Amino acid sequence: MSEADIQKVAKMIRLARKVVALTGAGISVESGIPDFRSPGGLWTRYDPTIYGTFEGFVNDPSRFWSMAIELHPLLENAQPNPAHLALSELERMGKCDAVITQNIDDLHQAAGSSEVLELHGTYRSGTCVNCSTRHEYDEMRQSGWYGEVPSCKNCGGTIKPDVVLFGEPLNASVLNRAIAHASTCDLMLVIGCGLEVFPAASLPTYARRNNAMIVFFNITSTSFDEIADVIVLGKAGEVMPEVVEAYRSLCKVAEN
Ligand code: NAD
Repeated sequence: MSEADIQKVAKMIRLARKVVALTGAGISVESGIPDFRSPGGLWTRYDPTIYGTFEGFVNDPSRFWSMAIELHPLLENAQPNPAHLALSELERMGKCDAVITQNIDDLHQAAGSSEVLELHGTYRSGTCVNCSTRHEYDEMRQSGWYGEVPSCKNCGGTIKPDVVLFGEPLNASVLNRAIAHASTCDLMLVIGCGLEVFPAASLPTYARRNNAMIVFFNITSTSFDEIADVIVLGKAGEVMPEVVEAYRSLCKVAEN
């Protein structure tokens, strides 16, 4: 992590009228939830074309839920890390209008961010594929289900988690709000995103069309690096609090 980059980003935040964050699995790695594509990630062990698709779910829900059980204890026990907290702090300081996230883990809400757009849904609920009854996660958990295919209390049908699988459309209203935020921001902070999953990966392009500045926070390079004005390399949980502190210091200097 370079101190010069941190200072540069703090200045960008100070100048920006509307800051929007786009977050991916990388921001939650330090909360104990692995990303999917890094070495050892879920997709290196489970074929995403089978385990991550809507078709794969319909063909064999028990296969899907047997993979999901690996993630659930991690999701249940995860706490927001300093990167999630830094974004909610930026919101309190008037410098984060929205968090658009690819994550399903509920950690931005737990950290206190209020405008959170979950592009890929949430693990916190599920819906019956037969009668569309919605079930809260805690309710499914209490009913004794764990790892087996949970069934609907209404009709006995199969419950699918409210996460967007490959081959399923994103919630149109969530996506439209995300596009509206991306298209009107003048600074986008892209944190822990591999930018390999569309349409989420196209959101920085919407920001760019509005002449927004774009900052990438990642531990490694991505295939979209050329779109970024600044690339801050380092763990999000270490870098983001530094950015907030640097911005706070700039504000103090300006006050005196
Ligand atoms: P990804 O696995 O493709 O990419 C994650 C990115 O984060 C990578 O570029 C990696 O280099 C970076 N990264 C890893 N650790 C980091 C750290 N400590 N600090 C900063 N960056 C770090 O994930 P993705 O592109 O975000 O999308 C995969 C999809 O899988 C998502 O759309 C999401 O729906 C789902 N997913 C969600 C969770 C979650 O909710 N926490 C976890 C895994 C996957």
